[in-house]
Amino acid sequence: MARCAGTKRNGARCTATVEPPQAFCWWHDDANAEQRRRAASRGGRGKPSRVSRDLHLLLESLTEQVVAGDLEPYPASVAGQLVGVRLRLLEYERRVKEQDELVGRLEELEEQGRAAKDAESRRSSWGA
Ligand SMILES: [Zn+2]
Repeated sequence: MARCAGTKRNGARCTATVEPPQAFCWWHDDANAEQRRRAASRGGRGKPSRVSRDLHLLLESLTEQVVAGDLEPYPASVAGQLVGVRLRLLEYERRVKEQDELVGRLEELEEQGRAAKDAESRRSSWGA
């Protein structure tokens, strides 16, 4: 089994095994650059969204108004419920995005599996 000719981000030699004549693993094969870029752009979580920042500001303002007596408790409570609905919607959107990400990764894995199986059947048909 051959080793990938690529180098990792830290400069070390990639340890992935490859099937000759393939010289690079999936991550280091230039043919997959576009797919990798798409996979990377599907990620990008961890930073709070603009919507979530806006919700924080809205909640802060609602709280201040109620405490100061500028807003009746009833409309404030309705506003709070609406914020809750919006949070559930955000959560739903996040799950959909995550699912898209997972489907993309699965497709990549399936592609890799198919390539490996092809290589395997080619080898056994040679009677090696
Ligand atoms: Zn590699």
